[in-house]
Amino acid sequence: MSTSDYQVLIVGGGLVGASLAVALGQAGVSVAVVEAAPFAGGGQPGYDDRSLALAQGSQRIFTGLGVWSALEPRVCPIKTIHVSDRGRFGFTRLRHDEEGVPALGYVVTARVLGGVLVERLAQLDRVEILAPAQVRDFSIAADGVSVELDREGAAHTIGADLLVAADGADSTIREQLGIETVRRDYGQTAVIANLTPQLPHDNVAYERFTDSGPMALLPMTENRCALVWTVPAAQADEVMQLDDDDFLARVQERFGYRLGRLQKVGRRHAYPLQLVRARESVRPRLALIGNAMHTLHPIAGQGFNLGLRDVAALAEVVVDARAAGRDCGDPAVLERYAAWRRRDQQRVMFFTDSLVRLFAQPLAPVALARDAGMLAMDLCPPAKRWFGRLTMGRAGRLPRLARGLPLT
Ligand SMILES: Cc1cc2nc3c(=O)[nH]c(=O)nc-3n(C[C@H](O)[C@H](O)[C@H](O)COP(=O)(O)OP(=O)(O)OC[C@H]3O[C@@H](n4cnc5c(N)ncnc54)[C@H](O)[C@@H]3O)c2cc1C
Repeated sequence: MSTSDYQVLIVGGGLVGASLAVALGQAGVSVAVVEAAPFAGGGQPGYDDRSLALAQGSQRIFTGLGVWSALEPRVCPIKTIHVSDRGRFGFTRLRHDEEGVPALGYVVTARVLGGVLVERLAQLDRVEILAPAQVRDFSIAADGVSVELDREGAAHTIGADLLVAADGADSTIREQLGIETVRRDYGQTAVIANLTPQLPHDNVAYERFTDSGPMALLPMTENRCALVWTVPAAQADEVMQLDDDDFLARVQERFGYRLGRLQKVGRRHAYPLQLVRARESVRPRLALIGNAMHTLHPIAGQGFNLGLRDVAALAEVVVDARAAGRDCGDPAVLERYAAWRRRDQQRVMFFTDSLVRLFAQPLAPVALARDAGMLAMDLCPPAKRWFGRLTMGRAGRLPRLARGLPLT
């Protein structure tokens, strides 16, 4: 029997770490979350104004985590996805009725989602939030993990059976363990802002490939749209400094008039974009999840959805080990998680990275081939269905939570 303070210690209370804490906490696993930023009250850097397109699979997971009823009135369903190439002929469209689902996905701001997770965590007495707190040092031994924390200037040492690194793209846990990463700086920046169009968005998500980078307009509540515009890093400052009218004119010129005139724009934020992939996802008593394991370009809106499937799989592996009387930090238990997630992670990373490269190619033959590819996808139901399953988070063997089944 374990003598650790907690069964699972999660470093990082971003959207992924917080989701894992909810999953484990409601299954009766004792959990501590160590988060560097103040947790509630809007201080969390990951709970910001970016809009996330949640896949259908993520909606199921959130239902299982008991948070969907609180989220539902605050999300906007995506009924159609429209992908096009500016100034060229290629386009493809994915519709919810053709896929036989009520929606292809749902748009929610990270701030709203984070707030709902914080509320849910407060209801779980097996979860303790240690924030703001920094991990000073840690050691992993055969019988447990020991973590030294700095909390309000005082040092604390806590023990756990399993350490989960959910500490984001620049994970210090990963770095300190010397886990290697593959990295690519895309030399691009995502500029985000909320816009109000003249015409109703009709729940259509637009992904438009332009000469200065891909531009997505996602439908939001109150007929607003969330803009995610990827610009070359060297142009990001200039785009951020445009006044609102000039900014709207620039977006309008690239997006066109499908939504009529773009009338109002909210605050802008900029995110430099990179790809980060850890070469290992587990070590004895350690698992990596979310951005600490894989940081993606937001072009296909897959990063958080992929991280949430890590959450569903890791929670299932931990809960099953516990039910079988096994130690959840056991390498064989964790290897099950690693093997399970490998294919989905590789597939989504490859798909996302290929899209970035494909649409960054201005060469005429490549542009022609991708336009033909989009048209072929539009005309070919199996290819479309594959694309649909991937973007809805339904490809591969799914964890119980992602299939709408209870975790325990
Ligand atoms: C512009 C943009 C648009 C996006 N759109 C989508 C989308 O439509 N759909 C989608 O699925 N994904 C999208 N993503 C990706 C998504 O935002 C991320 O995948 C997700 O937020 C990652 O969450 P995380 O919890 O893994 O990491 P993070 O949000 O980085 O959280 C890590 C947490 O760890 C904490 N931390 C770090 N180090 C320590 C330490 N030493 N001690 C304690 N705490 C620590 C940090 O304070 C932070 O709170 C988008 C991303 C961007 C930039």
